Amino acid sequence: MNDQRKVIRCRVEYWAQRLHVRPRLVRVQRMTRKWGSCSTSGIVTLAADLADQDTDFQNFVIAHELLHLRVPNHGRLFKALMTAHVPDWRRHEIRR
Ligand SMILES: [Zn+2]
Repeated sequence: MNDQRKVIRCRVEYWAQRLHVRPRLVRVQRMTRKWGSCSTSGIVTLAADLADQDTDFQNFVIAHELLHLRVPNHGRLFKALMTAHVPDWRRHEIRR
């Protein structure tokens, strides 16, 4: 496993415990249009080059995708949970 994957998987482990979620599968791969995604079947996909971004941004993207395991949309509950766990989340953009 290369360093980018290690960095991301380690951070996913931290956030999965913190958010009390368990992804069915975590994929770390090349992504060109998004930093991450979460399928309804519980598969979380993250961009490998997320590992080269600031820690704050990594936390934002990983928390965002993992929270989708609990809340599938971007509604009020989702935003409230983001604010609880990543207070400054609004300064980041999930799309690249
Ligand atoms: Zn989302």
